[in-house]
Amino acid sequence: MCEQCGAPAPDTKISRRVLIAGLGLGAAAAGMTTFAAPASAATLMNGSWCNPALGYFPSGGHYGASRPGGAHAGQDVTNSTGTAVYAAAAGTVVRRQWGGGLGGRTGNAIVIAHGSGVYTYYGHLSVYRVALDQRVSAGQRIADMGATGNVTGPHLHFETHTGGLGSTVNPVTYLAARGADLGGGWSRLDPGAGGVTVRVIQYLMNRRGYDLVVDGAYGSVSVAAVKKFQSASGLVADGQVGPATWPKLVYSLTAGANGDHVRALQTALNKHSAGLVVDGDFGSVTGSAVRAYQSANRLVVDGNAGAITWRALVG
Ligand SMILES: [Zn+2]
Repeated sequence: MCEQCGAPAPDTKISRRVLIAGLGLGAAAAGMTTFAAPASAATLMNGSWCNPALGYFPSGGHYGASRPGGAHAGQDVTNSTGTAVYAAAAGTVVRRQWGGGLGGRTGNAIVIAHGSGVYTYYGHLSVYRVALDQRVSAGQRIADMGATGNVTGPHLHFETHTGGLGSTVNPVTYLAARGADLGGGWSRLDPGAGGVTVRVIQYLMNRRGYDLVVDGAYGSVSVAAVKKFQSASGLVADGQVGPATWPKLVYSLTAGANGDHVRALQTALNKHSAGLVVDGDFGSVTGSAVRAYQSANRLVVDGNAGAITWRALVG
């Protein structure tokens, strides 16, 4: 946990409004007459965001916890030194320095700019794996967890900033509203989502007997197919690929498997910098990539893609 990483108290008025908008509670809940929830509120779970690191939330490591110099500016995620740290969304590395060059922070840190005044901060890193000014994709490995700076032990100190660098919001709720679980659960993708994880879904659906174009766009054809799959699986046919649907959709895979479910696995591994050829063949190269991913994320290293490995990969 951080012993410091306090920052001046966030503007709670802005934070609350962003939170309400993010949860889609709308004007009535906000007590405003002119505020209208954006039409996109229901599609914030668009596949752009993912979990930056696997671990657990240490006691006292939550956003807003009391720290010298101000409230704790992020959420701590505890795991061992060397655990992989991934970009939570696509963007550009704008800081790679002690404390991110921000007040109150210590340790090796990376700040990624995501556009529209949104930034993420990754603190107490042991190793940098990206360069300053480098463009990164969501899920790309950017660093290793560590214990640099003023800490009680190794962990990731993760912050989300909206409305400019320095204006923090609760990263747990910010990510949750965007379909990513900082606590390590399954992701949620709504109709309209796009990106690599949608390609994973499309490959898995094709293995389930559907015939989707694997284009990374969760449009009407793919959504209709998922709803059909959900109905056939006894699930609510809402088109959201989340904690109920993922476990029914993924396959437990071992070496020797071949087909679109392996292409899904290879695509998910590539989101996390594996660099595999997506050929549908679970051979030795893919097996090594599974083991490397499991090792870097402190999972059981068995080389098999079971539910826990899948959950981490698409989280
Ligand atoms: Zn912290």
